[in-house]
Amino acid sequence: MKNYAPLPISFVKGKGCYLYSNSGKKYLDALAGIGVCCLGYSNSNISKVIEKQSKKILHTSNIFEIENQKNLAKNLCGITKMKSVFFCNSGSEANEAALKLSRLHGKNLGYKSPKVIIFNRSWHGRTLVTLAATDNTKAKQGFSPLPGGYIKCQFNNIKSVKNAIKKNTVSALIIEPIQGEGGIHVASKNFLKDIRMITKKNNILMIVDEVQTGVARTGKWLATQHASITPDIVTLAKGLGNGVPIGACLGNTVVTDLFSPGSHGSTFGGNPFVCAVANEVINIIKKKDLLKNANQMGSYLISSLKKELKHSKLVKEIRGKGLMVGIEIKIKGKDIVKDCLKEGVIINLTSKNVIRILPPLIINKNEIKYIVKTIKGVLQGYE
Ligand SMILES: *Cc1c(COP(=O)(O)O)cnc(C)c1O
Repeated sequence: MKNYAPLPISFVKGKGCYLYSNSGKKYLDALAGIGVCCLGYSNSNISKVIEKQSKKILHTSNIFEIENQKNLAKNLCGITKMKSVFFCNSGSEANEAALKLSRLHGKNLGYKSPKVIIFNRSWHGRTLVTLAATDNTKAKQGFSPLPGGYIKCQFNNIKSVKNAIKKNTVSALIIEPIQGEGGIHVASKNFLKDIRMITKKNNILMIVDEVQTGVARTGKWLATQHASITPDIVTLAKGLGNGVPIGACLGNTVVTDLFSPGSHGSTFGGNPFVCAVANEVINIIKKKDLLKNANQMGSYLISSLKKELKHSKLVKEIRGKGLMVGIEIKIKGKDIVKDCLKEGVIINLTSKNVIRILPPLIINKNEIKYIVKTIKGVLQGYE
């Protein structure tokens, strides 16, 4: 079908942070398959786990107990301080589960038509429910009628949240700690803390969509940990499987008992294969201390960009945290991305004029230097 318009490059192999095209050209990957390939390419431990698990068992369905799933749940709850997990196959599905939970929570509170607070520029997925919670006109074009019950508030504006709560029976709020598809906008620590306080006080589930920011991307397991808060629900996906499709919806104590047997499910979700891989992803991040690398290299990336692009007339703002960085430019960015590709660096655009950098978490200083140098050179060609 015609829902993608791919660039005419096809990659046939990768090693570390580098990709190789079918014509033999080498690229430095500063996008990691949209924040997915957090350990880079051809990690030998991941390959070993994949081989070993494939010789044991790939899938059984959730009709039976799954040892790997229990281990992964324990692992995830340990690093996130959450209490329970529902496993699925994508970010949209994880948010779908979270939003279904918000309906159950609302019903428990006696709300006939519970509402969910969302934010401007939000992105939560492409299924009808998650699309309804997404603030992107183009993505919604032609898909009405969408499920209702969403109230849009202003990102980083706590007054708009307080107002919405006053006027409605709100059962949940969903937020990205750093808006990814919306253009790399960082929620302030105080905004997140205030939301945590207000939602707790009003029996509102705080759902944090960490599909892009989670799994060490910003230098902590969860981006919300920078604000020292624990949400009621956290969703993960992109980096969790290093390329193996997996999504997770994590719940705290209040949320743990909302689903009952039969009320929600997934055929593939949490199968022995994906859980073995995700477990190894977490183990490798711990062993290699990639939280520290994401922190250090992220700071280096942001400070280098600020220094090198200081005099660029095209740069409006540089934003981000850890290895999730955006450069807002004053021109449309399509050609910038193509020119960087010609120079052998993979980046992409979010919201038309924000260059997005989401490299593998294993990236080193020299690789970052090359990314910054390339972007600087390409931008100079447009001044
Ligand atoms: C990518 C993304 C999603 C959707 O994930 P899919 O796996 O594409 O369904 C949801 N929320 C955020 C914040 C994302 O970045």
